[in-house]
Amino acid sequence: MKIVWERSVYIGNAPVFCTICDRRSYPVKVHGQLLLAVLYDQQGVFQGEVCRSCVACGSEGIKARLQERIQALQAKTIELQTFTQTDIETPSLEEEFHVHRPYGNEMTG
Ligand SMILES: [Zn+2]
Repeated sequence: MKIVWERSVYIGNAPVFCTICDRRSYPVKVHGQLLLAVLYDQQGVFQGEVCRSCVACGSEGIKARLQERIQALQAKTIELQTFTQTDIETPSLEEEFHVHRPYGNEMTG
């Protein structure tokens, strides 16, 4: 895979999310042009943008960051899977109303 600096295809200075670390990343202004680091796979297919911090990490640093993120996502996946193992009771609108307004007025409308 390969990362190259390219002119931003987006309008303005809007942030993108780094494909590697998922953090917010802003384009870099060079000679009046907004540049973004773009990740391509072996076939030259666009895979997303990369933040400056990840670019500065180099190949090995990027691999380490990816491993960290993979582990965090796996932990999150396990957590979400435990949620699917039982039914989840949802509150009625009336119950919710009481939660948000314990001393509130009667529900209208
Ligand atoms: Zn990043």
